[in-house]
Amino acid sequence: MKNVLFSDTHLHVNPVRGLGAEKIAKKFKREGGWFIAIVALPPYYYGFEEISIESYMRVIELISREAARARELGLEVARFMGIHPAEIDEYYKRGVRGEKLYSFLNEVLKLVENAVRNGLLDGIGEVGRQHYTTSPERFVFSEILMRNAMILAKDLGVPLQLHLEQGGFITVLSIKTLVDSLGINSKHVILHHTNTETSSWANNYKLPFTAPVKYFNEEYLKSGIEYCMLESDFLDDPRRPGVSAYPWEIPVVVRNLVAKGGMNEEQAYRILVDNVVKYMNVESP
Ligand SMILES: [Zn+2]
Ligand SMILES: [Zn+2]
Repeated sequence: MKNVLFSDTHLHVNPVRGLGAEKIAKKFKREGGWFIAIVALPPYYYGFEEISIESYMRVIELISREAARARELGLEVARFMGIHPAEIDEYYKRGVRGEKLYSFLNEVLKLVENAVRNGLLDGIGEVGRQHYTTSPERFVFSEILMRNAMILAKDLGVPLQLHLEQGGFITVLSIKTLVDSLGINSKHVILHHTNTETSSWANNYKLPFTAPVKYFNEEYLKSGIEYCMLESDFLDDPRRPGVSAYPWEIPVVVRNLVAKGGMNEEQAYRILVDNVVKYMNVESP
């Protein structure tokens, strides 16, 4: 396993509550890491409580700062910001809803657009649909916003990370239908945190996906590796330990699988390097 470099295509950093990018990058780099995609958390995770554009601007600044630290330590980094479907629920609970929330969140998308154009972000996400029960109205809201984000990703030519319900065939069909009707390059539409069934349909429909390392095993590999990348979805929140994996579990799991003969080194390289270069728009290591 000398030649395999490791990547984590979806993780969160929280220097306010958790480890922050510097500690994460140091440890991941030591374990053989070359690339991480840092996905911004909603503003209130960082203590920016006000529902305002200012709060989202502060998130962009924070993510840029964090990414710079990881880069200084020798990692390649992609920065993502979107509107998580849980944010829509949170704002509804706080009493901001309907038209008012829709125009506000479209302003946030405009901010994301400007940040990408100014080199402060490298992609959009996560956006998508709730994976838990919510009201039908909020679900439709999330879907419309996801569609707007898709159009933006198309215009900008950047990768988009989708957070979705894990509905197997139906989830993938709905995304494929949107991608086709909007004329988007599907190599940039990435389904994140997919379970075995959903990833196998994503593979059938030629949509890239990021497999959570905690599900990744011989069985998962049967979904196919052509469109597969790996993620920890690390939350970097010490108050919620165990809700996801640590980035450095990726090298452990992959090394184990290769040692057991569950996958070979070429397959590992494809997943951890080639696919990342192709779908995340980054330069090869
Ligand atoms: Zn997610
Ligand atoms: Zn996430």
